[in-house]
Amino acid sequence: ASFGFRDVPAAEKAGMVREVFASVAPRYDLMNDLMSGGVHRLWKNAMVDVVNPRPGEKLLDVAGGTGDIAFRLLRRQGERPDVTICDINPAMLEVGRDRAVDRGLLRGLTWATGDAERLPFPDRSFDAYTIAFGLRNVTDIDQALRDAYRVLKPGGRFFCLEFSKVTSAPVGRVYDAYSERALPFFGRVIARDADSYRYLHESIRRFPPQRELAARMRAAGFENVSWRDMSLGVVALHQGWRI
Ligand code: SAM
Repeated sequence: ASFGFRDVPAAEKAGMVREVFASVAPRYDLMNDLMSGGVHRLWKNAMVDVVNPRPGEKLLDVAGGTGDIAFRLLRRQGERPDVTICDINPAMLEVGRDRAVDRGLLRGLTWATGDAERLPFPDRSFDAYTIAFGLRNVTDIDQALRDAYRVLKPGGRFFCLEFSKVTSAPVGRVYDAYSERALPFFGRVIARDADSYRYLHESIRRFPPQRELAARMRAAGFENVSWRDMSLGVVALHQGWRI
């Protein structure tokens, strides 16, 4: 498949995203380590530090893929873990489930196939909602934010970890060169799928920068919205509350 991503109608984006993640699922974890030099682990640890889940809280990790965030949340919850992992792509969930079995992490984990725009959960179900490197793949971000708000209990918190806008111009130039040249290279050599990684680069470029995402969270109903940059804004962690 060829993903010339410019000016793609929304309806087609969902199909592309499905193909990209079905195609990279078996090598997804290796690719993350190689492309980020392992730093994605630090970003994810930092996210879970901020979420700081308490035992017994009901947690939802959307676009949870192969379980990276969910496993961290689960460990942090210690006794009485309760983490639901939801992803639109069964191939990613399958890899995640295998990893959970390998690590002996099954108690307290629930798996669900579902779309972030129409989550298969009742209103006011969760104490915290996390989405890491997922929101930029969703076709209608605002709809996903509204649905996140819907499934949170009053007092519940929303967290989004996502590639964002680099805050330093020189670092930004290095980063752009890296994403334009190195990502398709990694895609070709390791995932054997340069198009998928071209798609990733394009989706990162198009994602709303920090301030705009915060505004769109507020428009979806969230309050006390804030964010913190990581690695000079290569990634940002946004959070908001359903009051
Ligand atoms: N959260 C994991 C992590 O941080 O490693 C996985 C991130 S991966 C880059 C993006 C995931 O989003 C994929 O597993 C993909 O299937 C999922 N995804 C894409 N569109 C989605 C949607 N509309 N609803 C739910 N999940 C979606």
